[in-house]
Amino acid sequence: MADRYDVIIIGTGAGGGTLALRLAPSGKRILLLERGDYVPREKANWDPRAVNVEGRYAAKETWRDRDGKDLHPHTNYVVGGNTKFYGAALFRLRREDFGELKHHGGISPAWPIEYEELEPYYTEAERLYHVHGRRGEDPTDPPAGVPYPHPPVSHEPRIQQLSDDFARLGLKPFHVPVGVMLDEANPRASACIRCNTCDGFPCLVNAKSDAQTCAVDPALRYANVTLMTNARVERLKTDASGRTVTGVVVARDGGTEEVSADVVVASCGAINSAALLLRSAGDRHPNGLANSSGVVGRHYMGHVNSVLMAISKCPNPTVFQKTLGVNDFYFGSKDWPYPMGHISFVGKLDGETLKAGAPAIAPGWTLDLMAKHSLDFWLTSEDLPDPDNRVTLDREGRIVLAYKPNNEEGHKRLIARLKDLMTQQTKCKVHGHECHEGLFARNLFLGQRIPLAGVAHQNGTIRFGRDPKTSALDPNCKAHDLNNLYVVDGSFFPSSAAVNPALTIMANALRVGDHLLKRIGGKA
Ligand SMILES: Cc1cc2nc3c(=O)[nH]c(=O)nc-3n(C[C@H](O)[C@H](O)[C@H](O)COP(=O)(O)OP(=O)(O)OC[C@H]3O[C@@H](n4cnc5c(N)ncnc54)[C@H](O)[C@@H]3O)c2cc1C
Ligand code: SF4
Repeated sequence: MADRYDVIIIGTGAGGGTLALRLAPSGKRILLLERGDYVPREKANWDPRAVNVEGRYAAKETWRDRDGKDLHPHTNYVVGGNTKFYGAALFRLRREDFGELKHHGGISPAWPIEYEELEPYYTEAERLYHVHGRRGEDPTDPPAGVPYPHPPVSHEPRIQQLSDDFARLGLKPFHVPVGVMLDEANPRASACIRCNTCDGFPCLVNAKSDAQTCAVDPALRYANVTLMTNARVERLKTDASGRTVTGVVVARDGGTEEVSADVVVASCGAINSAALLLRSAGDRHPNGLANSSGVVGRHYMGHVNSVLMAISKCPNPTVFQKTLGVNDFYFGSKDWPYPMGHISFVGKLDGETLKAGAPAIAPGWTLDLMAKHSLDFWLTSEDLPDPDNRVTLDREGRIVLAYKPNNEEGHKRLIARLKDLMTQQTKCKVHGHECHEGLFARNLFLGQRIPLAGVAHQNGTIRFGRDPKTSALDPNCKAHDLNNLYVVDGSFFPSSAAVNPALTIMANALRVGDHLLKRIGGKA
């Protein structure tokens, strides 16, 4: 007889972890299944070589690309999921992202819910994940009922100078909303020490607002919540009708065991949840569980992303760089009526990390020197849902990820805009014209597109919608085809928008949590 729970949640990242916390006070028996373990707290947490070059915490798994070539995904199987490593830029989607938007490369489809339905949950997620920001600066910000719970993380001098330059050029630069437990007014008491190893690293002092710290650990304080680590879910079993999930098969301690629950929630990340449903094919679901529409695994999106290093003669001594954003081109411009996307920063790059990405070395520079002198931009544009961009399984059950980038023209134009803006910076006091003027004659601007293995922003593979013919989940994120199966990770996105996805995944998990509380009863 399988161990029985009220709710089983598979995966402890942004979606699963947040849902667990929402359901915890209900008193219902909740089981969290996580294929990874806790990230050990050790000095290597903040060692760029260990983290970025040796991949100490990265998933040890090989996928395939569409040509059958090995793919080593940049993803993390740990308690808290990818939020343990994220840069914690916690954006709301724009209000318009919930509607249909015309892009140069095609149509970004509408969501089955409106922004207003998610708005209170965004507010709650911002509180839960300690978001620091300032409303009203970003011209594309959607309406919000309350201010951010914490003041914005301040710019360091080089970033403030750039912000001032952008403002002088008529843009509306803003403070990126970030989830770090930083108290700048009281540094001695602040949990966050504002270090240079945040984006891409786990936080050694537990001051990053990740799903383990903010959701899973608090949920586990409730006696009715249990976490099993190193517990990889292999497949879901259904009853003879195929309408109800009756068993969750877990690989653990070298064997397999089965657990069951009234409600089962997949939250393995968009790629792994799709793979799990495909692996759970059976007589009633020959193409994969919940897949009568055929959309499971399809419409994979991950954004069109670039990291761009603007290098100048003056060093950039910034420690915590991810504080500045520009969304003036998000929906287009006077001369380009299509969305272009979002400009912000990655964490400050260092020589070791650059070795892992191996960018072209600028003549006369070493990687270390380049890193000391670079402003490290992160540009995101929306990619569109193409049914042929998809997750499938090979004969051995391994993940195959097929992806052809699309909608790239807007991204190219965004890069061109940034290049143009960088040539117009104020003259440097030390080098004068030699430093900034003619940036691209004397200074260097190196661009690198994120490769396929960079699946950080994965979404879209189990889309929600009203029509069971074109979506796998209903607007409550319940599988159309089943009575008791839900999905709350990034899979549900029908479109990817062009801001980072995690806050939307968290807010949606809270929304689905409220739906589940009504369904399972218990204290709210
Ligand atoms: C370096 C980096 C930087 C990022 N920066 C940002 C940022 O600044 N802002 C932002 O919004 N987003 C950022 N992201 C993306 C963000 O982390 C993800 O969008 C978010 O974590 C996705 O949430 P999720 O619930 O869909 O999946 P995840 O958080 O990935 O959680 C999935 C969980 O499921 C577990 N799992 C998978 N398969 C199974 C299985 N079969 N059985 C049991 N457990 C399983 C995994 O181990 C994992 O714990 C970043 C990501 C990375 C890697
Ligand atoms: S900046 Fe703050 S939250 Fe981020 S890793 Fe450093 S101490 Fe942790």
